[in-house]
Amino acid sequence: MNIDNFKDAVKACRFCFMCRHLSGVGNVSFREADTPRVRAAFIDGIMRDKALLANPDFIQTVYRSDLSAACRFHCVNGFDENGLLLAARRDIVEAGLAPQNVSDLVDMVKAKFEAPVIRGDAPVAYLSDWDNDDSPSEKRAFDKIMKKAGMAYSVCRAPLEAKILKTLGYNVDAKAMLEVFAESAAHSKVKIFVTSNPAVYDLLVNDAKEFGIAISKKIMHSSEYICSLKLKYAKKPGKIYYLESDFLKNYCGSYKFPGLLLANLKAELANFGTNAEESYTCAEGAVVLDKLYPEIVKKLAKYVEARADNPKSDKIITASPYTKARLQRNSKLNVSTLVELAAECL
Ligand code: SF4
Repeated sequence: MNIDNFKDAVKACRFCFMCRHLSGVGNVSFREADTPRVRAAFIDGIMRDKALLANPDFIQTVYRSDLSAACRFHCVNGFDENGLLLAARRDIVEAGLAPQNVSDLVDMVKAKFEAPVIRGDAPVAYLSDWDNDDSPSEKRAFDKIMKKAGMAYSVCRAPLEAKILKTLGYNVDAKAMLEVFAESAAHSKVKIFVTSNPAVYDLLVNDAKEFGIAISKKIMHSSEYICSLKLKYAKKPGKIYYLESDFLKNYCGSYKFPGLLLANLKAELANFGTNAEESYTCAEGAVVLDKLYPEIVKKLAKYVEARADNPKSDKIITASPYTKARLQRNSKLNVSTLVELAAECL
């Protein structure tokens, strides 16, 4: 079983309370089952009796997780509680035990996937996807920045579907989709793919490596690309609260470019919430939690709203169009992405 690769994490986490406050879903459900300790204890039981994998409460608990990877990132011993949950999802899928809401979602995602078509001849291609479809102002902001920089760009659909399938435990299908993208990318004139979506960045950089797929082009999150343009900004953004991305911070080892862009913009950074360890992304790491359990994502947004100093007036910035869309839909917060903030300051 895939969970067997995480025996050390299971042994450590099943008796440990240290990171329970970093389980986003646990913080809003108040269920012990939604904490790393109890999830690991469940999996410990499955390692002793594989028939327990079919327990519907266990399966639901595994798919309710927000997968922020905050527990792994802040674990003093580096135990991979997040990898353990992804392995459990793979085991559930490989045993034919995926619940109906997950398999329905997978069918829909597979039907949406198309081989990427690169529109334009420019060597920089902007990747669009489901999440920035939800936020057209993100695309307008990127366009404004590129016009200011005098740069033409091509457009291409990102293979976000591959990330969704991998997150849900369908690794074979995810790998096949990513291979289709890598093949198209290899035969294109594009030199740099730019994505605003941290999930896509993680897919094209880390998941591709894990799958043994070489993507022969430079991949940049939009914050890195905008920094590389070395633009002059006419306005300063003033006081802002920056919500870290699960993928850019916890999966990619504190990717430095969001912080660098905010420094270039001369933003006055204020601390958000009660600590710098928690995830305030509305389950960005789970990519599609709102499609499976919308009530959890709604509660996560309210949890973030409750931690704002002045919910209606604070300027909240996120790297992730996903997080912006979920906070806007489910809270009173005033949220913009890094790209929108940079465009505003031109
Ligand atoms: S990830 Fe680390 S801190 Fe969290 S439960 Fe496991 S051992 Fe404890």
